[in-house]
Amino acid sequence: MNVTDQDQAGSRRVRTDLVAIVGVMLLASVLPVDLLPSTQHEARGADGQLSGKQGQVIVVRVPVSRHSIDVTGRFLGRRIPFFYQSSPGGPGAYLGLLGIDMLDTPGSHELVVDLNAPGESRRLSYHVLVIQEDYPVQRLTLPKRMVDLDPNSLVRVKAEQKQVRSVLNTVSQERFWSQPFIEPVLGAIAGAFGRKRIINGQPRSPHNGEDIAAPLGTEVVATNDGVVRLAVDHFFSGKGVLVDHGLGLYSMYFHLSEVSVQDGEPVTRGHPIGKVGATGRATGPHLHWGVRLNGARVNPYALINLPLLAEPRSEG
Ligand SMILES: [Zn+2]
Repeated sequence: MNVTDQDQAGSRRVRTDLVAIVGVMLLASVLPVDLLPSTQHEARGADGQLSGKQGQVIVVRVPVSRHSIDVTGRFLGRRIPFFYQSSPGGPGAYLGLLGIDMLDTPGSHELVVDLNAPGESRRLSYHVLVIQEDYPVQRLTLPKRMVDLDPNSLVRVKAEQKQVRSVLNTVSQERFWSQPFIEPVLGAIAGAFGRKRIINGQPRSPHNGEDIAAPLGTEVVATNDGVVRLAVDHFFSGKGVLVDHGLGLYSMYFHLSEVSVQDGEPVTRGHPIGKVGATGRATGPHLHWGVRLNGARVNPYALINLPLLAEPRSEG
């Protein structure tokens, strides 16, 4: 069953009358649904739709009056795990981080959220408006030998891509972080997220992270608590680290001059993981910082200042 909760203009009250018709045994303890945008970049449409630009992260909040409900969302074929957050002096909520991929089709898409408790289940449906982002376009003319890979390099690159994909597709069921995210290095942000590159007239894969220029050897730290899943030395990305933050969230750090962590090592927020370099295909020292959220390529800076993510001081 599928119920659409639509806000009325100017009001964030949910149409509880629509919700109440669902099922024989309602989750009476589950309160009406609330949605909150994650950043100032997002605006609520006049019809109450939730919206965000390509590459942004939306915090979806489902208030509940009790714990131990399985809450899972689905958006454009991607699974969105929710986690419980208690609230001092009131009922808690389940939060889901909804990543809008850098190339998700602009327009309205459905987010379905399933709540399951023993003997009771409920499905909620939202409209999420994906807004087109204006990405910079870079046109380059390069000698053919600099563009085309030799057969050996091509085989290597494909194997490396497969290795990275296999890590990113693995979802740890535990959330390893609880504090806000921090920048891995302080430097000049290039504004290169989503940049479209056209080389010799041929469109290439868009740039799926942000580039931060910093002097060679500057320390790079983990954006939040997590577990190192892969330390690499790859053809394009050079020396790099993939950190698993749990529930399908990964951060990636590339072109490092050196890596100071190993596969399987737990890291805390601010823990050094390597140093800024120019390894792989890089024209100068910088950090390529990428974030993958349940398959969505999102702007890493969307993680900074995510609202409502600090743990309450006490469980009450
Ligand atoms: Zn880059």
